[in-house]
Amino acid sequence: MSEKIIIFDTTLRDGDQSLDASLNIKDKLTIALALEKLKVDIIEAGFPISSPGDFEAVQLISNRIKNSKVCALARAVPKDIEVAAKALYSAENKRIHTFISTSDIHIKEKLKSSFEKIEETAVRAIKLARNFTDDVEFSCEDAGRTSLDNLCRIVEKAIHAGASTINIADTVGYTLPNEFQNIISSLFLKVPNIHKAIISVHCHDDLGLSVANSISAVQAGARQVECTINGIGERAGNCALEEVVMAIKARAKDLKVHTDLNFKEITKTSQLVSQLCNMPIQPNKAIVGENAFSHSSGIHQDGILKNKKTYEIITPESIGLLDKSLNLTSRSGRAAIKERIASMGYEDSDYNLDNLYESFLKLADKKGKVYDYDLEALIYFTNTKDNDDFYNLEYINVQSGNKMATASITLKCGSEIKSDAAVGNGPVDALYHCFYKVTGYDIQLDKFHLKSTGEGENSLGKIDIIANFKGRSFHGTGLATDIVEAAGQALLHVINTIYRAEKIDYIKRSVG
Ligand SMILES: [Zn+2]
Repeated sequence: MSEKIIIFDTTLRDGDQSLDASLNIKDKLTIALALEKLKVDIIEAGFPISSPGDFEAVQLISNRIKNSKVCALARAVPKDIEVAAKALYSAENKRIHTFISTSDIHIKEKLKSSFEKIEETAVRAIKLARNFTDDVEFSCEDAGRTSLDNLCRIVEKAIHAGASTINIADTVGYTLPNEFQNIISSLFLKVPNIHKAIISVHCHDDLGLSVANSISAVQAGARQVECTINGIGERAGNCALEEVVMAIKARAKDLKVHTDLNFKEITKTSQLVSQLCNMPIQPNKAIVGENAFSHSSGIHQDGILKNKKTYEIITPESIGLLDKSLNLTSRSGRAAIKERIASMGYEDSDYNLDNLYESFLKLADKKGKVYDYDLEALIYFTNTKDNDDFYNLEYINVQSGNKMATASITLKCGSEIKSDAAVGNGPVDALYHCFYKVTGYDIQLDKFHLKSTGEGENSLGKIDIIANFKGRSFHGTGLATDIVEAAGQALLHVINTIYRAEKIDYIKRSVG
């Protein structure tokens, strides 16, 4: 009989840790809602003790997510666990995930402790966490380099202390699939109370083996896989959710396991995470890369035309990838847009039709035909705007010559209208000075990335910037057929995000 594999997504925790600019609260909630629609079993929403923003995000996600379990990370430290429990308070289904390093090198060099002390600390932490919830996960950090005897010892104690999930982490992505499989099999053989817990795995991709290691562990009896969308995460990243679940689906008969995922949401969720995290997807990436389903060689194309199964082991439709050839024009009405978006798998609550339609008309005027990928880009982009944005762009004009550029903008700042002009050594520089003059935010641009989305000469230009303000990094994005306008929107987005973050910090400070 086929057994279920629990999918534990840590995009918002391990994934977020690896970004140039941490996701803001609103983006985290958007991703959490997408993960819920994808039907992941557990969403690791953050590490509440690590920052006020993380705490707030876990709290908000706990309030809003109803179908997936919400999990928060905590070191094996009382304060961490108490703060995690507080952030999870309103979650309908919750889990506290506590961890400690178990390998000799981590214990000696990082924690300056002994294995016995680590065992005691772990047991105390699990017992404390159990006061807040029955669902406690314990992770052995760097388990991949922990001696088998020690690993068996601590796992037995952790289960005895009340952990119902034991996570074996290949934190540095060092193990080989057969070694990792052997670790999991040994736990099943040697730990007497092992059947009282679910064995989970958390693999990193330093050697490109994270998915292979996770599948090997499943074959040895692991029943939870920790993963992230597009494989984002520390260094080379984590096991990619879309890869591991599609491997399980494609080889279900041999593996005799399944997941409860809603596979048709994979493409959309992958695009959303890539966009909000400012992490492009490599074209040849398995499952979600742009070329994952395109057949180039003549022999392959011939085979595909005769029978798709000749060269296709999974279908693009199964992950929600649609034919992108249909298009809309400026004559298309709101109903047509709505219908097309619905056929792409979006629900009404995923976007604001008024904002979207306004952007659609502007784009259709400039571009003529609007394709699905344009609509998708517009959905994400209009979602970055809030109806309660403090700063709104009323007017923008940039003139550039061969040596310098002049920019002028008019911003609506709350109820006030402010205008100014500035010069710079290029159009973006001029705009940047202009925004500083109007808003007073002295931001520093760390990264500036331009990408065209879609095909053809009228494709949309997307600009992503990473800006530093008072030591913190913020991500802003802009989308337009004109790149100067896109740069203006990206600067505006960053400034609105900073404004909101400052407001949260201010409220936190005054409440204490
Ligand atoms: Zn990790």
